[in-house]
Formats: sequence, structure tokens, C-alpha cells
Amino acid sequence: MVCQKCAQDPVYEIPKANIQYCKTCFSEYFEHKVWKTIREYGLIEKNDHIGVAVSGGKDSMTLLYLLANFAKERRDIKITAIAIDEGIEGYRNRTLDGLKKFCGKEKINLRIFSYQEEFGKPLDIMVKKYPKACSVCGVLRRYLLNTKAKQLGITKLATGHNLDDEAQSVLMNQFRNNPAVSSRLGPITGVVQDAKFVKRIKPLYFLSEKETSTYAFLRGFMDTYIECPYASDSYRAQVRDMLYEFEAKFPGTKKNIIQSFLEVLPVLKSKYKAEMRYCQTCGEPSQNEQCKACQFIQILTEK
Ligand code: SF4
Ligand SMILES: [Zn+2]
Ligand SMILES: [Zn+2]
Repeated sequence: MVCQKCAQDPVYEIPKANIQYCKTCFSEYFEHKVWKTIREYGLIEKNDHIGVAVSGGKDSMTLLYLLANFAKERRDIKITAIAIDEGIEGYRNRTLDGLKKFCGKEKINLRIFSYQEEFGKPLDIMVKKYPKACSVCGVLRRYLLNTKAKQLGITKLATGHNLDDEAQSVLMNQFRNNPAVSSRLGPITGVVQDAKFVKRIKPLYFLSEKETSTYAFLRGFMDTYIECPYASDSYRAQVRDMLYEFEAKFPGTKKNIIQSFLEVLPVLKSKYKAEMRYCQTCGEPSQNEQCKACQFIQILTEK
């Protein structure tokens, strides 16, 4: 078996297509898919200030690397890396170290915001009162990313979500009968335009976890890979494992989930195009009188 483009030793096989790529041709294939997604879905526009939500993990490092290179060629585009330090001892401090080194080397502006400073407690303490770590962590992270992005003048927030992440989210929302939440998914998120909500873009949307890991490995972003200690407890992790099994038996399952989802997404967006409401406590966009972040903060800071 050889690379189908240049006959070098292959490093990756495209499932179901019987196509093999060497290191260089795989990187070209991967990057081409990212640029195609950006172009086709209009993810980046002239004079955008892109905030790249980074954790130091392989997906967000890959995204940051690609967008920082993109910004070198497009002088009108500005990039700022934004990291959230949830306060997970032995995990986040290590991934942030790698991120700081990378941003220093590539001269990327990096801003870090922590739960400790913003909410008064790290996640490791919060979970003693509210053990569903990923639920509280996800809500508080999205809240901080949105508020800080606005303060920094960011026009779009880019996240490293890939095809697997999105397929998991679609299924989780199906299993929980949550179509309104699904209406906010897609390569560019949100249902209504609102100055208080910074749009989110997902340039890795059509790349699988395997493809992203391969690219990250080839670029050396897997060298410091570690997993969050709370990850295996989550509902998402169970859906992920189930999808892995299904994909192994029926290759193409994840791609099919996404393709059929994108067909119905416009219908979902028009059905759930509710007027944006605002949290009465903090003023941030919210579907309820009080946003989920404020609800958590109240529970977690009660004596
Ligand atoms: S796995 Fe859960 S707890 Fe860990 S960083 Fe992700 S959302 Fe937070
Ligand atoms: Zn090749
Ligand atoms: Zn609020």
C-alpha cells in the first residue's frame, strides 16, 4: 500500500474509500477540508477578530495552529487564544503549561480566565457540592467564554469541535428529547443574531476524531496528551463509546448522522427562532429568567 497521490509510505486510510495518504498528502487533505468548511459556511469574514477557545488538547491546538497560520496570510484577521482554567489539579495546569509555551513560540496573544478568580472556587471544590462535574463545568465555561470574548472585542469564537463531538451532541439531544438545543448546533452556532451573544464557529466540523488525532500527532500536539479525570463519568462519554462501537460495525455512521442532521437543521432553526431573552441576574442571553450559570453559581456559593 502506498499514498495514492505521491506513492510514499501511507500514514492514514480514508474509511470506506480505500484511499491512503502519506504524512504530507494527509496534512494537505486535512487542511483543505478545514478551509472548505470555512469558505462554504462563511465562518470567517473580513476584519474578524477570532477568539480561539483553547484547552491545550489536540483539537483546540490543531485549530489554533491552523487559524494562526491563516491570520499570517490575512492581515485583516486578528487571533486571540482564550483558555479557561477550571481548576482541575493535575490536568488543566499541565495542559495550560503546554499551551503557554506554544503561544509564546508562535507569538499568539493568550488570555487565561479561571473559575477561582471569576467564581471564587475551582471545579475540584465545586464538585464536592455538585458532583456532575461536566454539567457545571460546561455551563460555566460557555458563560465565561462569551462574557470574556465580548470584553475583548472578539467577533467570533472558534472551537475545536469535530465530527465526532457534533454527532455525539446530536444523539444526546435526541436521547434527551432536546430539539431546541440541537437547533443551536451546526458549523456556525446560534439561532438568532444578538449583540450579547458571540457567534461560535467550528472549522473542524467535518473532520473525524481519528483524522484530527492523526493531524495533531503529525504536528506533535499529542505529545502532552492527557485526559480530564472527570471525563469518563459523563453522559457524553457513554454516548461516545456507543458511537465508537457502532462506527466500527457500520463505518460511516457518524458522517451519516451529521449529514442527515444538516438536512433538518434549517427546519429546527426556524422552529426555535425564539426571541432572545436575558438573565435577570447577570444580563447575559438566556432562555429562562435566570441563566444556568447564575443558577449554578447560586447553588455552589451557598453556605
Ligand atoms: S471533561 Fe467535563 S469536567 Fe473535564 S474539562 Fe471537560 S467538561 Fe470539564
Ligand atoms: Zn503522498
Ligand atoms: Zn445569569
